[in-house]
Amino acid sequence: MEIIHISAECYPVAKVGGLADVVGALPKYQNKLGHIAKVVVPAYDTKFIRESEFEVTYDAWANYGNNHFQYRILKEKTNKLGFDLYIVHIQGLTDRPNVYGYSDDTERFVAFQIATLDWIVQWEHRPDVIHCHDHHTGLIPFMVSNSIKYTPISSVPTVLTIHNAQYQGQFGWEKLYYIPAFDLWKGGLLGWGDAINPLASAIKCAWRVTTVSPSYLDEMMNNARGLESLLRQERWKSVGILNGIDSEVWDPQTDPMLGKGYNLKTVEAGKLANKTALCNVFQLDASKPLFTFIGRLVDEKGADLLPDIFYTALQQHGDNINILVLGSGENWVEGRLNQLKDIFPGKYNAYIGYNEQVSHEIYAGADFLIMPSRVEPCGLNQLYALRYGTVPIVRRVGGLRDTVIDIGDGGFGICHDQTSIWDVTHAINRAVELYNDKKAFKAVRKTMMKIDHSWDKAASNYIDLYQILK
Ligand code: ADP
Repeated sequence: MEIIHISAECYPVAKVGGLADVVGALPKYQNKLGHIAKVVVPAYDTKFIRESEFEVTYDAWANYGNNHFQYRILKEKTNKLGFDLYIVHIQGLTDRPNVYGYSDDTERFVAFQIATLDWIVQWEHRPDVIHCHDHHTGLIPFMVSNSIKYTPISSVPTVLTIHNAQYQGQFGWEKLYYIPAFDLWKGGLLGWGDAINPLASAIKCAWRVTTVSPSYLDEMMNNARGLESLLRQERWKSVGILNGIDSEVWDPQTDPMLGKGYNLKTVEAGKLANKTALCNVFQLDASKPLFTFIGRLVDEKGADLLPDIFYTALQQHGDNINILVLGSGENWVEGRLNQLKDIFPGKYNAYIGYNEQVSHEIYAGADFLIMPSRVEPCGLNQLYALRYGTVPIVRRVGGLRDTVIDIGDGGFGICHDQTSIWDVTHAINRAVELYNDKKAFKAVRKTMMKIDHSWDKAASNYIDLYQILK
């Protein structure tokens, strides 16, 4: 089958979070299964794009409403990611350093989607499926089915994967004219509430909807930022497929970002070497358990509680633990996390910002990874932690519920029920106990590292889903 993935992010081309990791891995594994999976993303001004070689595949003009723009489709020359990568260059719109966060993000992603479909519609052959990811590509299922100029591809099935329903990309009806001409009576398919809502539109119009874990699909029926009733209505065509991890990128034995590689047999020495190096850089004490948090500092991740959780845990455990944070997000959370450095020097540190290298060093060097998320569609951090022998401490929600089993139930992680200071500090107490029981701790590490979360299974689940649509 030929599958076109269209997305705002793709690792290592442009990454903000887990969406990039999925789109950078799933197509590779689909190709390994003998299919042809291609990826289309906007041509941002990122290091990867600047340093890679591209050839122009297509060059044309398009428009959203009265706004005409020239665009170019460029193909990466060497297939170095394990799939054909196409980038859509629209001068003045896509060619910026950040993926999101601009006042004209609506226009940027509308133009990206129109350019991509204009290009696909003129191919001599038809792809077997168009796979859209999140709201940035959420207008595509509607446009493919309804925009007159895309009639030649209207029979191509579209699939939407919801990586995060908290973000829906709403914009006002006054911009309806951006959408290429369609029978106006179908306009209702674009809206939800009093706005055009690309995510809602994709849920209505895509042939199938997937979410990144089965539990998240269930939870969305009651908690999806206003889309609950729509999701219940469309449940018949929805399925939760748990994400995998790219076990070639995330392998502690071969990871080039680590000072010392390790595997199941050498995990104790390997983790100690990485922990020592990490603790030296961040002025922490490698002889004490190291707790960490990696991620976006937003409410969804429970980040608003982190300063109080860490303050309480450090007060309680005195000199017996270290904490290290890597993240960026809400300014006030960043500020409070920075303040803790002065209160607990030598026991606590924080790197406020985004740093892929440091994230790998932390997965390898840490003992515990905290994820007190309120919402967690799948969560990749805990899967990386498992692979790197770092015990996840997670709230039972979404994909965390589907992937982490508590040590009390014969599993390998520490789970709690609420995103609350009490629940997380209690979980930290349990973790300290586990750390002090060296035999049990080593056994848990080995159990975790043996778990197979590679993409092989999930990639074929998606193929099975596409087959139904043929
Ligand atoms: P989400 O997509 O909701 O942010 P996921 O758990 O699905 O969460 O994926 C997060 C990804 O982003 C992981 O690969 C994680 O290591 C990475 N990440 C998050 N914040 C940072 C950061 N500050 N620096 C480096 N990597 C980060």
